[in-house]
Amino acid sequence: MLGHAFGAIRHGADVQIVRVQADVGPGFPRFTIVGLPDSSVSEAKARVRSAFHHAGLPFPKGRITVNLQPASLKKQGSWLDLAIAVAILRASGSPPLPHDSTVFVAELALDGGLVPQEGLSAIGLRMRDEGLSSLCVSTHQHLPWPLENMFDLMRAATLADVVAQLRASRVHVPTVRPHPIARPETARDLPPLRGHPVEYRLLAICAAGRHTLLMVGSPGVGKTTLANAFAHLLPDLTEDEALEVAAWQEIANPNYAFTLRPPVRRPHHAITARGMLGGGRLGSPGEVTLAHRGVLLLDEMLEFSHVSLNALREPLDRGMVEVVVNGKAMRFPASFQLIATANPCPCGYRGYGDCSCPDPDVRRYWTRCPGPILDRIDVVHHVNRDLGRELGEASLDDWIERVRAATALLARVPDRTSTLSDEARRALRRACDRLHASERDRVKVAALATTIAALEGRDEVLTSDVEEAMIWRRPGSLSPMRNAIT
Ligand SMILES: [Zn+2]
Repeated sequence: MLGHAFGAIRHGADVQIVRVQADVGPGFPRFTIVGLPDSSVSEAKARVRSAFHHAGLPFPKGRITVNLQPASLKKQGSWLDLAIAVAILRASGSPPLPHDSTVFVAELALDGGLVPQEGLSAIGLRMRDEGLSSLCVSTHQHLPWPLENMFDLMRAATLADVVAQLRASRVHVPTVRPHPIARPETARDLPPLRGHPVEYRLLAICAAGRHTLLMVGSPGVGKTTLANAFAHLLPDLTEDEALEVAAWQEIANPNYAFTLRPPVRRPHHAITARGMLGGGRLGSPGEVTLAHRGVLLLDEMLEFSHVSLNALREPLDRGMVEVVVNGKAMRFPASFQLIATANPCPCGYRGYGDCSCPDPDVRRYWTRCPGPILDRIDVVHHVNRDLGRELGEASLDDWIERVRAATALLARVPDRTSTLSDEARRALRRACDRLHASERDRVKVAALATTIAALEGRDEVLTSDVEEAMIWRRPGSLSPMRNAIT
């Protein structure tokens, strides 16, 4: 007799729904698993057999063949234990169990207990994509709360418990979905906002329009504090976005706590290009993918190697990265916002006091960052010494609210250069002509001006917005090197 059950496996970024087929027939007692299992899956035989025994279920006598589909995909780990057990139970017909499209995801302990698996976000998303709506996991399985609401959940402590619930479900179909779990409040530990009123406005503009930013300043001027405060200004992700983020974070950190807050990655400057991009035998996500939908914060950007900075070019342009996993090319998402800091010169004090660095040294210092990466930074800003302490006491909450409103407004603007008033457009053209600005400069100034207007609650861009955008972008002179030494 044939039985089947759905299971799921995750190997790095690779997620597959697996159809487990079991055939139980007469003959010499033999238990075979086919369909590219590795040794860890083959060990399921011992676990399943023991779990049957402890659940008080008769293990079928005779020949058992289990097939894992698709057969072309290599299966690893203990993810399929429960699905294999259920498929065998359904094939043996004792006790008789109904077939359905529930996906069973748990390891079996020898005593028949269901062991939770790590990182189910990716599997949940794949199930949804494939139209599967019912999931069976361990009572102790941790799930991000949107997944709890997304599926008909069967939670069980043991294999015997699964059998009891499956038998009962013949009577109680369809499964009643539990009350939706309310979205928990995102607790935010906001840093005190002190001074730097100009910089906070700039951070708000960059947060609302997702503009890339490099803050230059002497040691102790506050650029790292500002960079760290930046992430607080970003609005929450949607549940779907947060699940997509969680699916990647769980690969790097199995204990990742689900949150709607965008991720912030702060790689060390000794990171390699591989660490930045990801890939390799296990298909690990790199920093650019872990920062997907969030922030990649490069503190002291010029301390990073030329190679690892240059690696950012493709993800900055395309919002994704192509990596090689086990000889197979894969695409990982990598749509992040780059926020960086740097000293103005090797000694750190050019423009802030006593700098003894000769100009050629400063130029050489700035060539540590590849030109194409500097070109992709929207705003290079010299952080001021904090002179306006009394002006800077506006609350961070106010800025967060303004950024949220501006983001919502910008989401309705299809082309960020199309909402300029005629007068603003003429002002932009005149200024760009005068400064011999490039087309790239013109587009970036227009985009910044559109964000500034949105931050003021307007969808029409005025000349004053263009003028402010010109102050941030400084077209025609936007070379951090030149900015640094002037
Ligand atoms: Zn210096």
